[in-house]
Amino acid sequence: MILPPGSTIGILGGGQLGRMLAIAAAQLGYRSHIYAPEASGPATEVSAEWTKAGYDDADALARFAQAVGVVTYEFENVPPAALDRLETLVPIRPGKRSLEISRVREREKSLVRDLGGRTAPFRAVQSLDELRDAFAEIGTPSILKTSSLGYDGKGQVRLHDASGLESAWEAVRGAPCVLEGFVSFDAEFSVLLCRAESGETAVWDTPENVHTHGILDTSTVPARAAVLAQAEEAIALARRVADALDHIGLLTCEFFACSDGPVFNEMAPRVHNSGHWTIEGAVTSQFENHIRAVCGLPMGATARTGARIEMHNLIGEDANSWAAILADPTAKLHLYGKHVRPGRKMGHVTRIF
Ligand code: AMP
Repeated sequence: MILPPGSTIGILGGGQLGRMLAIAAAQLGYRSHIYAPEASGPATEVSAEWTKAGYDDADALARFAQAVGVVTYEFENVPPAALDRLETLVPIRPGKRSLEISRVREREKSLVRDLGGRTAPFRAVQSLDELRDAFAEIGTPSILKTSSLGYDGKGQVRLHDASGLESAWEAVRGAPCVLEGFVSFDAEFSVLLCRAESGETAVWDTPENVHTHGILDTSTVPARAAVLAQAEEAIALARRVADALDHIGLLTCEFFACSDGPVFNEMAPRVHNSGHWTIEGAVTSQFENHIRAVCGLPMGATARTGARIEMHNLIGEDANSWAAILADPTAKLHLYGKHVRPGRKMGHVTRIF
């Protein structure tokens, strides 16, 4: 399917990822129509249309589907019933299978294992008794994570001894979870891969990512040697995952670089914070290639535009330093137009060296 420039792209979700997708779409001559339960968001100023409606509003979904040529999304927790409804009316890219798998931690880990990748030891748990059993098997330290809806370290509790099990279970409010063994890693990195309908893939340099309190702080390319040595293996695995899902668009896989090779952590069937450096740091950004892929256009080149590229997230009050950041004429500042709140991703800054 080719959706020519001039057409309208539907985007589920109007946050900063929707905003940057809509900007990339506009550059290629497309209009964007956001569908979100909120009345406005970071994507408001840059999209032609906005439908404010719930994901359970069948009529609004049908009107949205009729108004757009393809539907994509900026987050993986789109309710399955909404996808079922949309799917009968308009192509959804990436497809439903990518969402079904990546929405649930144990599903994505199981798929990766089936495809020959390594993960931390994990057990799905649905009750405090199951958590006790899983803890007896996996031991300490370990991390309890909600299976779905977790992001930026939210919905995660670290466990150091058995006395913390009950309070951990209370903290996740009894939601379905996975208990994961703690991985001792040298570095964290991600694979950013964009797959076209033909199966052709584009990959960028694998950024080395540093998280603080579970939130991404920096992404840097090139990564250090410990990561570079395992990038090819991780990219090959990400390709197998994308092929298995018949994925169209951006797929992000996050890894721990361990002394004995890469360990898969999680995936996102979408553009990702660790790929924001590609806006100025690569010939074609993750956002542009995602738009190209979902519209059936050829993939753009992914080569780095500098010897070294660093992306820093601006969290909460960090965004108030915009004047100091701009005092460096080489700093590329992105602000998402959000109200400052502690822990909130407000923007990012990219520097090319
Ligand atoms: P996640 O939401 O799974 O991406 O976790 C957020 C961050 O917590 C990761 O990027 C790691 O820094 C840390 N983390 C998550 N799972 C593990 C693990 N099994 N072992 C060690 N660190 C972890």
